Amino acid sequence: MPKRRSFECPNCGTVVNEPTKTWQLVAPIPDRKGRITITIMGVFECPNCGHRWRDVVSKLKVGETSVEVSGREISVEERREPKVIEIDLENLDEEMAKLEEYEEK
Ligand SMILES: [Zn+2]
Repeated sequence: MPKRRSFECPNCGTVVNEPTKTWQLVAPIPDRKGRITITIMGVFECPNCGHRWRDVVSKLKVGETSVEVSGREISVEERREPKVIEIDLENLDEEMAKLEEYEEK
């Protein structure tokens, strides 16, 4: 299990927890399992000495059957949440009542 990374200023060693800016790099070529690798890059700024640097925040491997986050594989089945379709029945009744009223006149 890879442990959660903390980011140290290469200049003075101060630990910085959050990047000031992140962006994604998507590899155009899938790996041997057919997954696309997405690298999250970050810009860090040291609150102590003001040094700025870039580092890899995390790597995601996204495929049809699994997603790998920083070396930990999660099956897509696990992540799938049941779909909820909400229909506002109260509103529907109101609309129907209005229609009926109109037709009676
Ligand atoms: Zn520093």
